[in-house]
Amino acid sequence: MPALFFDGVLRIKIRESTFYACGYCGLIYEDKETATRCAEFCRKHGGCSIEIEELSIGRIEPASFRLTKTI
Ligand SMILES: [Zn+2]
Repeated sequence: MPALFFDGVLRIKIRESTFYACGYCGLIYEDKETATRCAEFCRKHGGCSIEIEELSIGRIEPASFRLTKTI
C-alpha cells in the first residue's frame, strides 16, 4: 500500500480511490481537508475531536500499517 506522509496526514491509495488518514490517530477520511483538521486537532490537543471523528470512514490498524519514515 503506497502512502505518503505530509502535514500530519497520510495519503492512502486503495485501488482507484485516494483516502486521507490522520497521522496521529489513524482515522481515515475521504477528503484531505477533514484529515488535515483532524491532524491539527490531534497535534494541538493530543486527542480527537468527536465532531471530526464522526466524519471518519475507518481507522488504520497499527498492527497492519507501520510507518518507517516521515517525509
Ligand atoms: Zn486525528
